[in-house]
Amino acid sequence: MKAAHVIGAGVAGLASAIRLALKGYQVTVFENNAYPGGKLSTFSSGEYRFDAGPSLFTMPHFVDALFELAGEDPRAYYSYKKKAIACRYFWEDGTQFNAYGDREAYLEEVERVFSGHAKAVDHYLTKAKKKYDLLAKLFLERSLHQWSTLFNSDTLKALSQFHRYELASSLHGVNQRQLKAPHLVQLFDRYATYNGSNPFQTPGLMTLVQHLESHYGTFIPEGGMVQITNALYALAKKKGVHFKFEHKVSEICVKNKKATGVVANGRRYPADVVISNMDVTPTYKKLLPQQKPPRKLKKMQPSSSAIIFYWGMNKSFPQLELHNILFSKDYKKEFNAIFNTQTLDDDPTVYINITSKDVPQDAPKGGENWFVMVNAPYDTGQNWEQLTQKLRKETLAKIARILGEDITPHIATEVVRTPLEIEQLTQSYKGALYGSSSNRRADAFLRHPNFSKTIEGLYFCGGSVHPGGGIPLCLLSAKITTSLLPDVPT
Ligand SMILES: Cc1cc2nc3c(=O)[nH]c(=O)nc-3n(C[C@H](O)[C@H](O)[C@H](O)COP(=O)(O)OP(=O)(O)OC[C@H]3O[C@@H](n4cnc5c(N)ncnc54)[C@H](O)[C@@H]3O)c2cc1C
Repeated sequence: MKAAHVIGAGVAGLASAIRLALKGYQVTVFENNAYPGGKLSTFSSGEYRFDAGPSLFTMPHFVDALFELAGEDPRAYYSYKKKAIACRYFWEDGTQFNAYGDREAYLEEVERVFSGHAKAVDHYLTKAKKKYDLLAKLFLERSLHQWSTLFNSDTLKALSQFHRYELASSLHGVNQRQLKAPHLVQLFDRYATYNGSNPFQTPGLMTLVQHLESHYGTFIPEGGMVQITNALYALAKKKGVHFKFEHKVSEICVKNKKATGVVANGRRYPADVVISNMDVTPTYKKLLPQQKPPRKLKKMQPSSSAIIFYWGMNKSFPQLELHNILFSKDYKKEFNAIFNTQTLDDDPTVYINITSKDVPQDAPKGGENWFVMVNAPYDTGQNWEQLTQKLRKETLAKIARILGEDITPHIATEVVRTPLEIEQLTQSYKGALYGSSSNRRADAFLRHPNFSKTIEGLYFCGGSVHPGGGIPLCLLSAKITTSLLPDVPT
């Protein structure tokens, strides 16, 4: 039997482990933490439960597909429901917009709030779907770094439609041209943040991110986001995957340009193949210090990070939904601060996620669990303590202006995480949420490949490599990576 070692039990590490076990490998996952999931994990503070990282669940069929591949019923492991309202948006001038999951209801809401703009939005969504349909097979389901992908009918079809991808214009430029109403432009600009990019830099191609949400809908797992991790972990164990928690890998062993195993907690574990779910930059820096990282990797800018306040509230707020956005007044200024001056603007956009709206056991009766996140630059040595203190005041003031109420007295418990804690808990490079950003025109196509070009038997999966960050793309990275490995004959 061939041995495969996976470094990290993030969502892509778990999915890769399951796929490799199904291919006949003897799989061991080495995880630094005492629990699986990486960014997709949970913790409690007093009587409140929080999802630590991801809160928005799209494309659940990518999770289900793993169970179906394994011959298991996904509903025996976890369930989810579709949300009628994907997100509620608030502006300081009193405008409120419900992003309905159903397209007709969404367009009616556009007409109600932004009279005369439904046709433009309808056209925008149709165009975004075309882009997705043309690119999905090529970009999301294959390694871009193999000849078989380059000389393929899907590639030729995708290349022949190059003009449709709007690579020459920024996402903001495309949105302004097509949608015009400033609030709508801001709302659609926001999708750049789904992969940690700047809407004023990332290309118009990124309208397809919005398509994933509007076309497929948004979902919440019963029991919260961590149930995705729990379900994948249970499936991996059922398929014979071994887990070694609190085992930090310190080295990938390489002999004659071939990966031969890993060193964890001072002991060597030989293997036939090694798959790193650790962010690719620290994989090279810390686990392969003798190997030269690809030059391209140095040029990639990390994605944005975040500061998160996890507040246990002793009151409920019926005006809020599961997902809520309280927009800044000047988006350009805000993103200039995050990506160019690498600090925080004094009027940040505030995201509030409250799973207890759908998972009542996440908070005591009459209370709510607030996950309050503000986009932040990746760590370059900023004074996070000072920035966090200032941000807390500004965030509370913004919430008070929009909800018409000071919520400070209702904060019963508080946990705060900055890019430093995100890096420390998940080893993500500089605390970036999504690996690298897609700010330059071709960045989305230039992520690190799913395999090493110089070390045989070394592979990569997860948010920092092709096709990118976020749960759906991480699951696809596991599919692409493991498709590069042969089945083990029985
Ligand atoms: C605050 C926040 C909000 C987010 N919101 C969303 C969202 O709403 N929707 C969405 O789809 N995505 C969201 N994301 C992004 C999403 O969480 C990630 O893209 C995805 O979870 C990354 O998964 P991964 O497989 O790359 O591994 P990670 O989650 O990065 O996990 C890597 C694992 O490897 C382990 N590890 C690393 N190095 C070693 C080593 N040397 N030895 C042993 N173990 C090691 C780490 O401990 C960790 O468990 C968010 C992320 C954050 C942080």
